[in-house]
Amino acid sequence: MTKATGERKMRIIVQKFGGTSVATSKARARVTEWVVKAKREGYSPVVVVSAMGRSGDPYATDTLINLAKEAYHDTRPRELDLLASCGEIISSVVVTNTLRAAGLDAIVMTGGQAGIITNSNFGNAEIIRVDPSPVLRHLNEGKVVVVAGFQGVTEDGDVTTLGRGGSDTTAAALGVALNADVIEIYTDVDGIKTADPRLVPDARTINTITYEEILQMANEGAKVIHPKAVEIAMMRNIPLRIKCTFSEAPGTLITYTFEGPPKWPAVPGNRTVTGITHMPNVAQIKVYTPLKAHGADRNQEEETQKSLRKRGETDLLMFKKLAEAGISLDMISFTPEVKMFIIQESLVDGALAIISEFGLEARVTKGCSKVSVVGSGMRGVPGVMANVVEALERAGVPIIQTSDSHLTISCLVSKEHTEKAVRALHDQFGLAHV
Ligand code: ADP
Ligand code: ASP
Ligand code: MG
Repeated sequence: MTKATGERKMRIIVQKFGGTSVATSKARARVTEWVVKAKREGYSPVVVVSAMGRSGDPYATDTLINLAKEAYHDTRPRELDLLASCGEIISSVVVTNTLRAAGLDAIVMTGGQAGIITNSNFGNAEIIRVDPSPVLRHLNEGKVVVVAGFQGVTEDGDVTTLGRGGSDTTAAALGVALNADVIEIYTDVDGIKTADPRLVPDARTINTITYEEILQMANEGAKVIHPKAVEIAMMRNIPLRIKCTFSEAPGTLITYTFEGPPKWPAVPGNRTVTGITHMPNVAQIKVYTPLKAHGADRNQEEETQKSLRKRGETDLLMFKKLAEAGISLDMISFTPEVKMFIIQESLVDGALAIISEFGLEARVTKGCSKVSVVGSGMRGVPGVMANVVEALERAGVPIIQTSDSHLTISCLVSKEHTEKAVRALHDQFGLAHV
């Protein structure tokens, strides 16, 4: 009870439903059941929806994007965002009607109407603030608020989208702005698994995972939740639960890190590795940056130092230019003579054009996947790399490049070896069994 008013504090829940969860009337009936359950438990629900279905379905995001490209391949990002945002708007109206048909007092809002303000980076806009008051007003009247995910609006009133998979981000942003008790992400799998179940059928559902681990897994390609959504929820310690729309399974609870506040449940078990991820369609680029002079005598040494400094300046300019072109680099490895990194395959032509502007030679290996072993428990544990190498060696998967951080070891492999590599690593670390 709050002292001033004697009113019970509103307990808000954000429930996000993905594309397959809203695709058919049967699926939407399940959505209604989850919303009714939340209401019955005393929550005020905010329902965030994705566009209905997947690529090929009439109102799915990919279908809408292709529609624009069919008319003119060079659609401007501002126009493309306006069209792409319609998928979630259609879905939100249909879901609102479904809820109303079940007797719930539901009202629909676009992302902009729900107070989500973004910058104007069309296609991948950043949320700069959320005004919770429009949603709160409706919640206070006892309404269920249905919000179109994946979108916001700029200060100038332009509609933007939040990047692919961005309805998760909408849910997290509203959860934080409304100080929700919990954010539930409903999808087509019963939680976060030890690997993508499409590649590893015996992947196990993880009961509890840290924000840090899932953030790493999401950044490394586990698309079960958008990494930005994790980052946002993590800022305010709002619990996230990933659940399957179509099953009663408890799903996965995302909790604080190992070092987190004591109110968070401890991460169970002594697992070293939590999961295996894969990121397809990447290319390795090696840029050759040879020095002019090498040698042992004093003059040559000076020349080498001068050459190194000049080389450094050129490299810096080249990397700045790649960044300005929106080309994000990963698995970066430097020697004075070779700069090695990976990028999305679709960005190779743009990157090569920039590299050649600097008169540098580059070698490209297309058709690669980045396969990663992720786990907070591997910090300081010896032998993880040896296990990775052993597993891939035994599976006959050549490693093109590796990189690591305190909770990840990543290997670049050829595209046709992706599945084999993920399965071999999943087996090596015994992830199918607790
Ligand atoms: P939604 O439309 O509900 O947001 P997504 O397709 O974006 O659904 O995400 C769910 C999909 O994520 C699953 O169908 C699954 O194939 C994939 N996925 C990838 N890695 C994992 C993982 N580690 N655990 C669970 N699902 C994963
Ligand atoms: N519909 C959008 C997409 O397909 C956003 C989402 O589903 O989260 O990327
Ligand atoms: Mg998704």
